[in-house]
Amino acid sequence: MQIPFRKIHESPKPFHIKDGRVECSGTFWRSGKHKITIEGKLEGETEFICDRCGKSYGAPIEESFSLEAVDRPVKVEDSLDMVECLDGIVDFDSICRSETASIQSEYHLCPECADKEDFEIEL
Ligand SMILES: [Zn+2]
Repeated sequence: MQIPFRKIHESPKPFHIKDGRVECSGTFWRSGKHKITIEGKLEGETEFICDRCGKSYGAPIEESFSLEAVDRPVKVEDSLDMVECLDGIVDFDSICRSETASIQSEYHLCPECADKEDFEIEL
């Protein structure tokens, strides 16, 4: 789903997209002359790579996110949770994918290794 920046107004609008088994939904609105705010939630199931054994496994995700999209370049120190849309298009599909990717890049253990880790702690 792609929406031109100039067509986004101050009244919040809902969005709902599906990327494979992950659903991304929420609202977006214009929060400044060159800025829109997107608040959403990722829900579904996705693939993770275990940080201990390297095995991939499917697990549910449920994560809220909030970010701002701007239609002009941002200073590096402001770039956290900011998406630059220099072509004037807000690409919700790529926002959803990169939010999913950032959750996948966090530290994860597969159920097997997570069990072992609990066991080690008990010892
Ligand atoms: Zn593992």
